Amino acid sequence: MSEPDVQTTPDASVDGIAAELRAAVTSGLTRPRHYREQQLDGLVRMLLQNVSLWEAALADDLGKSEVEAHLSEIAFTVGEAKHARRQLWRWMLPSPVPLPLALQPALGRTVAEPLGATLVIAPWNYPLQLALGPLVGALAAGNAVVLKPSEVAPATSALLARLVPAYLDPRSVRVVTGGVPETTALLEQRWDLIFYTGNSQVARIVAAAAAKHLTPTVLELGGKSPVYVHRSADLAVAADRIAWGKWLNAGQTCVAPDHIRVDREVADELVAELRRATAEQLGDPRASPDYSRIINGAHLSRLQGLLAGGTVVTGGEADADERYFAPTILTDVDEAAPVMREEIFGPILPVLPVDGVDGFIEAMRGRDKPLALYVFARDRAVARRVERETSSGALGVNVAVAHYGAKSLPFGGVGESGTGRYHGRFSFESFSHRKAVLSKPTAIDTLRVIYPPFTELRAAVTKRIMG
Ligand code: NAD
Repeated sequence: MSEPDVQTTPDASVDGIAAELRAAVTSGLTRPRHYREQQLDGLVRMLLQNVSLWEAALADDLGKSEVEAHLSEIAFTVGEAKHARRQLWRWMLPSPVPLPLALQPALGRTVAEPLGATLVIAPWNYPLQLALGPLVGALAAGNAVVLKPSEVAPATSALLARLVPAYLDPRSVRVVTGGVPETTALLEQRWDLIFYTGNSQVARIVAAAAAKHLTPTVLELGGKSPVYVHRSADLAVAADRIAWGKWLNAGQTCVAPDHIRVDREVADELVAELRRATAEQLGDPRASPDYSRIINGAHLSRLQGLLAGGTVVTGGEADADERYFAPTILTDVDEAAPVMREEIFGPILPVLPVDGVDGFIEAMRGRDKPLALYVFARDRAVARRVERETSSGALGVNVAVAHYGAKSLPFGGVGESGTGRYHGRFSFESFSHRKAVLSKPTAIDTLRVIYPPFTELRAAVTKRIMG
């Protein structure tokens, strides 16, 4: 499989782009609900009228099957946009708040207002969904947006650059393509929000650039999302669900199970079930149309290097020409090896024995808080302990990865796995400023009691009503 050239936006059209887009927001262009709805409709049309082009781009970049392309990218994003389109009127309503007696009579409410010019920087692993998903939130909240797709997924990036201007209003939405130089040029400008998805090293560069202008950031990062399998788990179901979540997109998923810690007494049985589940789901993975490819040669070699950290039980084969890396299970894993120190982000699944839930919780101590943590147990007390005694962006109980699909759940990390959240209403909120509004009638002025001069009576009343 060839690795196509990266298309880049010329420097001149990046200069001053944030200020230009902010002016579009301050002019009031993006504020009306009708305008936002039109933009969301445009986004849905862009996806649905070009399905075969999106499928081809995703197949080019990652060898994604048609079903996976819809499940995790095209249909997923259409669903997110349609949901925002339907709910927008509700999200835009002011929210009344109760007020203390001391402020009565008055009305208090919060209103969501657009932040202004926003920058969305996307990664390569779900190159459509992770670019357009945040865009849905930005548009719904009435912002202008520059979208910077990942140069590491060049086919999808080029298609976004071609189709976005045809379906969305170029006065408020632009696509800038390219890599580090173009992103650096964008980061030098003043934005009203930067929404970054990717690795935590670049997140530090983004956060430092944002700090210069006191720009808020949403950082959607990754890390090592662990799985704990307790001896009470239904091992067959656990293996089916873990295998699906891990082999999806060939493990190049931010919430993919990174590694498994399993109660020692059921470790062999779990490994056998994982092998069965893998064979059932993918047959011969190299021949399976449902198994994705590794994004590029550099990532493939990185994955090959990680194999040294354990014994390959199944898989391990790689083919650089095909960008193929077999679903691989590792046992006898060295905790100090790179495979247990860095995010795997590929189809290698280390399985480590542990002594009960105490052992698992102990192993989590002192580690970075992951984006997701999964526990498989039929014993509810075990799941509750894991919920109480560990911290992660999300927790899946007897399920892996699928929480990503719940629009009613916030998606985001904590600590090293990120800050901020999105999906559904949470996207709208992240791209809005919640303005506090307090409004008092003037007919009677109850505030008079706190105006100086502070007589004894006023002092007594003030202490009583404020206390
Ligand atoms: P990537 O290499 O595509 O980089 C992401 C973006 O950062 C790109 O648009 C790229 O142009 C830009 N970039 C790269 N280097 C830069 C630099 N020096 N300065 C400025 N911009 C730069 O993607 P990646 O980081 O390899 O993505 C994989 C990581 O992202 C993993 O850690 C994964 O877990 C995480 N991730 C998180 C989520 C989430 O929703 N939390 C989703 C997907 C991936």
